[in-house]
Amino acid sequence: MNAVEVEELVKHYGSFALSGLSFTVPKGYITGLIGPNGAGKSTVIKAIMGMVLPEEGRITVLGNAVTGKEGSYKQQIGYISDESIYYEYLSMEQMKRIVAPFYDRWDEALFTKYMELFELPKRKKIKDCSKGMKMKFAIAMALAHHPKLLIMDEPTAGLDPVFRRELLDLLAEYILDENNTILFSTHLTTDLDRVADYVTFLNRGELVFSDSKDEVLERYVIVKGSRELLDPDVRRELVGVRETAVGFEALAKDQERAQALFGANALFERPTLEEIMYYTAKGGNVNASSHPFGS
Ligand code: ADP
Ligand code: MG
Repeated sequence: MNAVEVEELVKHYGSFALSGLSFTVPKGYITGLIGPNGAGKSTVIKAIMGMVLPEEGRITVLGNAVTGKEGSYKQQIGYISDESIYYEYLSMEQMKRIVAPFYDRWDEALFTKYMELFELPKRKKIKDCSKGMKMKFAIAMALAHHPKLLIMDEPTAGLDPVFRRELLDLLAEYILDENNTILFSTHLTTDLDRVADYVTFLNRGELVFSDSKDEVLERYVIVKGSRELLDPDVRRELVGVRETAVGFEALAKDQERAQALFGANALFERPTLEEIMYYTAKGGNVNASSHPFGS
């Protein structure tokens, strides 16, 4: 069963295009939506939330067709936006009092538990909160109404490493309930190494893959060898190549094909998600010095 289904989604912003994007978010698991800045992650998430209207395509969330109109199924979604959606001049407590009545399953004790866990002073005005505090507050608000589906747009951006880890632990705890599902976007793939079951990878609005993380990591392979091995035919088989003084390092999409191509002449290593994203986003001949994602 899928918590989210996206079919043939089309959306244009100037020269940017999602042109017929399809993927699913399986119920009961953590799916990471990855891609460099500008890949279209937020646009896809907003379309799932009914906040961006696609030109074409169908989206269902928890079995409901997304139309952009209000629907009671939205009660079951905990949504964390990439920007602060709260009234800056209110305190966290005042903001909560406005939002809480909207949810049938609001759990005041759970909200208080998270506020204490995150050490958030409830009388502090939102405008006086740091970026990390605002993110923590948004997480407390999202979890306090017992959502079945948690959708988070870059929740770890702007968080210190200690809280990033705590958040990932929280997500792991939340997903223990098999009725719960998480979709979160990030350009920091190390977050996914720890917790994601499935990975959907967008690059310039195009789907690169949407698959179980373990399958992806087994299918792709890092190849290392000497530069004499690189002729145009061989290069065509590689997603991206980085040449160094002593040889080359490359990403290949199909490890069996790569083994057949290079045989004993090259070394093969299991890639990280970071390497898959790096070589795919750069493509072709990768310049060793620049890194497209920042840190
Ligand atoms: P990501 O979240 O992966 O960084 P976005 O979905 O935010 O990517 O953006 C994808 C592309 O769409 C970018 O080129 C961005 O400038 C453009 N875009 C996003 N939202 C809008 C908008 N409301 N108006 C115009 N262009 C937009
Ligand atoms: Mg974004």
